[in-house]
Amino acid sequence: MPDAAAPASPIQVSGYDIDILVTGFPGKSVCHGALGWSTIVLIRHGERLALVDVGAFGHRKLLVAALAERGLKPADVTDVLLTHSHYDHALNWVMFPKARTVIADVEMDWALKEPWGLTPVPELYVRELDLLPTLVRAKDGDEVFPGITMHLAPGHTPGCVAFRLAGAERDVIFTGDAAKNRAELVSRDTDMTYDAAVSRASIEMIWGLWTARPGGIVVPGHDVPMDLDDAGKPRYLGRREAAISAWYGETMDATTIVNLVVD
Ligand SMILES: [Zn+2]
Repeated sequence: MPDAAAPASPIQVSGYDIDILVTGFPGKSVCHGALGWSTIVLIRHGERLALVDVGAFGHRKLLVAALAERGLKPADVTDVLLTHSHYDHALNWVMFPKARTVIADVEMDWALKEPWGLTPVPELYVRELDLLPTLVRAKDGDEVFPGITMHLAPGHTPGCVAFRLAGAERDVIFTGDAAKNRAELVSRDTDMTYDAAVSRASIEMIWGLWTARPGGIVVPGHDVPMDLDDAGKPRYLGRREAAISAWYGETMDATTIVNLVVD
């Protein structure tokens, strides 16, 4: 069966081992609300082991299995870097309660004040996160992990961020939902923004990070990682895989695979 979590090509940056544990999907369901199929990345650096975003309930088994495949368990994770507070990216911080957990100061202040029951902010998880002794409320430009800086990229939420890993030979930019997919990166238009112009400025900022050095890679919140070809156009690294298994028959054995990838 196709695996929705099939990793993209490993990203080579000396001193860092970067694994896409779950590759985000650039779409919404038509009849059932948000899909929330977001990207989760593992970064190993020396003794430290960081996750960029941690997903939601549907990711839990997948995340444990992906770590186990690499000989790791959730307790081995030392750092959690959250691009923003939305449930599909941030909810599973509770799987890593001992980890140093980074989120933008602005995002925490905003998320704590969001009205309950109306938004993608997981109200109770955010309330508890605020009490976490290992929580780090970071500011624009802070180094939040060795070689990784946080860059405010508002629009999707007021405190959503991109993380830039400055490697020896190239940079890797984790954009979260500031630029969810290739369409947003290329068009500078966005879905789910409180202000299209603010989002556009953040995407331009991301392009600035992306093109600052040759060979840069962008890992979006809901898409396959990309680099730039010789013409400066985004080029996917790795293939997209996404499918649903459904019981449309009358036995539990008869399942139908609905492939969501269109060539
Ligand atoms: Zn979001």
